[in-house]
Amino acid sequence: MRCLIFVEHSDGTVSESALELGAMAKSIGAEAVGLICAADPGAVNALAGQLGSFDAVIGVADDSLATYNPDAAARALTAATEAHKPDLVMTSYSAAGVDLAPNVAIRTGRQMVGYVSGLELDGDTLNAMSTVYSGKLVARTGMDLPGIVAVMPGAVKADGLSGGAPAVEMMDVDLSGLRMRVTETLVPENTGVNLADAEKIFCVGRALGGTEKIELAENVAAALGAELAGSRPVIDAGWMPKVRQVGKSGTKVKPRLYLMAGVSGAPEHLEGMANSELIIAINSDEQAPIFGTAHYGAVCDMFELMPALTERLTAGK
Ligand SMILES: Cc1cc2nc3c(=O)[nH]c(=O)nc-3n(C[C@H](O)[C@H](O)[C@H](O)COP(=O)(O)OP(=O)(O)OC[C@H]3O[C@@H](n4cnc5c(N)ncnc54)[C@H](O)[C@@H]3O)c2cc1C
Repeated sequence: MRCLIFVEHSDGTVSESALELGAMAKSIGAEAVGLICAADPGAVNALAGQLGSFDAVIGVADDSLATYNPDAAARALTAATEAHKPDLVMTSYSAAGVDLAPNVAIRTGRQMVGYVSGLELDGDTLNAMSTVYSGKLVARTGMDLPGIVAVMPGAVKADGLSGGAPAVEMMDVDLSGLRMRVTETLVPENTGVNLADAEKIFCVGRALGGTEKIELAENVAAALGAELAGSRPVIDAGWMPKVRQVGKSGTKVKPRLYLMAGVSGAPEHLEGMANSELIIAINSDEQAPIFGTAHYGAVCDMFELMPALTERLTAGK
């Protein structure tokens, strides 16, 4: 079985999710072949050098691929799929992959499953597991191969897979007449809040209920020496600024400690924090999906726990 993996990268570094896709391919005993699209062969080779766990790399080089271009990426992945006929094409279910995977599925006539959190081989059938309804259900889809899956970032660990750089084979793809071009890259302004590099984060969810009780959360964060963060409903409601949002459409974080209160653990939230070193969840519902991910949990009312926690942490100092 052979998997063709679309390798996302930025600023000369392959994404963690590409390494995770490699690990997932290996978990079903498949060969992992990466597709790297970059400006020139030198950039392709430098990126391939970071894919020690992959068996081979196909490179496509063109000026239009210097930064991610959805049209060029779809054409390159379609061409590589048609030329190499992999059993499975894998993309990340990222902002890019959520558009790329169905695009290539239509172009190649392949069946596609999104939101995938795990793969299982059952004889000749490939089962793709997708978490749906905010993590409350897992849907198992038996796929007829060849197919395409778009996999949730953080679904598996990429750790422990390293080796020599895989052999690179360059491929020519006609990228003339693209209907999209990248004109500008906008870097978010520096607000002084840097969740991505924070060592400790205290994240509160919708259960906070409003800004009236935010001081309780700020006190816990201050006593802990942690950055305060929020799930998406907290940001959407305007209780905290967008720079403090963790998750799929917020910041991806990897602190040593991720303490969270009143957050259910929806896949879009997990996508931003599941790789934290130590996750401790506080939730009043013992059935909350977050307890499937957290290393430690407390089933209790966050409004009772927050002041008590602040007191203990402050007394400890
Ligand atoms: C395309 C897309 C992108 C998204 N991006 C993001 C993202 O970046 N980040 C993100 O977070 N979400 C994101 N979401 C939303 C996501 O699907 C969830 O809706 C969201 O994460 C839920 O937030 P929550 O856990 O705070 O709220 P809820 O799911 O409402 O959970 C609240 C939790 O609080 C608990 N609770 C209630 N009262 C108490 C109490 N007194 N004490 C303790 N616990 C209590 C409840 O049991 C519940 O588990 C995205 C969704 C989509 C479709």
